[in-house]
Amino acid sequence: MSKNIKGINTKMLHSYPVIDSYTGAASIPKYQTSTYDQKNLYTDSQKYNYTRFKNPTVDALQRAVEILEGAEYGFVFSSGMAVISMALMLLKKGEHVIIPKEVYGGTYQMANEIIVDYGIEVSFVDYGNMQELEKTIKENTKMLYIETPSNPLLKISDIKSLVSLAKKNNILTVVDNTFMTPLYQKPLELGCDIVVESMTKFINGHSDVVAGSIATNSAEIADKIYLYQKNFGGILGVEDAWLILRGMKTLGLRMQKSVKNAELIAEFLSKHPKIKNVYYPGLKSHKNYDIHFSQATSGGAILSFELFSKDDIEKFIEKIEIPIFAVSLGGVESIISHPATMSHASLSEEERLEQGVARNLLRFSCGIEDAEDLIEDLERALSFI
Ligand SMILES: *Cc1c(COP(=O)(O)O)cnc(C)c1O
Repeated sequence: MSKNIKGINTKMLHSYPVIDSYTGAASIPKYQTSTYDQKNLYTDSQKYNYTRFKNPTVDALQRAVEILEGAEYGFVFSSGMAVISMALMLLKKGEHVIIPKEVYGGTYQMANEIIVDYGIEVSFVDYGNMQELEKTIKENTKMLYIETPSNPLLKISDIKSLVSLAKKNNILTVVDNTFMTPLYQKPLELGCDIVVESMTKFINGHSDVVAGSIATNSAEIADKIYLYQKNFGGILGVEDAWLILRGMKTLGLRMQKSVKNAELIAEFLSKHPKIKNVYYPGLKSHKNYDIHFSQATSGGAILSFELFSKDDIEKFIEKIEIPIFAVSLGGVESIISHPATMSHASLSEEERLEQGVARNLLRFSCGIEDAEDLIEDLERALSFI
């Protein structure tokens, strides 16, 4: 491919196998096959011999992940949780991992209820407190897990400071970059070792596939990931890989519109008398606006806000018409969710409140609808409370 390509949008359409080398098809076909006819006795004499090991459609998507993340090695698995589990499974018995207190619910359960049974030590820490974080580092600490902006309060962790702390102590850093997408935040370029994304969200973008990606610049880590991918077997299906290849081609366009909508909605809500608080890193009033924009190039397309009373939530949800009310985010359609009863339902009331996830909080994932319609809808729904 031509060396003149610099822009990510051009790259997303031309810089990985987008053309089928066998037929010239302008869309990579769904190589819907589990196995491949072998020319001879030697399995290593051909690139493909079993789909759990390698498949051309899935491979094309893995190359696309490398382009998007600016990574040497990219892999896709059957969900975001599968790649997060993969990252945590790089730890061995007796090793220690530090995880933010405010972390994606599935990651919390994986760390809190599963990996501890494999003899891995876990500490949940408030990443807003660097001193506490530093004190938590021990001899056997091997991984620092980062998620920024956080879900659902959009708190920001300072990736560069965390990476420098980790490097000083010989600790691997993993970033869950789902909210920002690699278009706006590139953790590997900021010095992190591993980046994971739930492709279910913005990357696929159409609320029709569950998938995850993991990328790194380390050959050693990549070898392990490939070993796990092949033997844990949590591979992505061919049809799903194809759908994501299709969805990804418009990631740039979709994000532009969704981010614009988020900016306008955050602005609107922050001035509305019936809104108690708005959390959006693209607002100048956000506590960590400067840190966020030192590591990312956009406020993203997700915001959250609080009504004054939890008793108004039900009425508001009943009256809002355009966004779907659902778990998940990052679709072309706007999605509103109630973290206390959805993403954070597995936490106790006490744990939730400690994280600041109150019952009057709603999360809004902005789709690509017309901003005027979304704002009018919000205005109308708010008029009932
Ligand atoms: C959705 C999500 C995940 C989990 O991804 P799945 O594809 O649902 O397994 C992990 N992290 C974040 C921040 C998410 O939003």
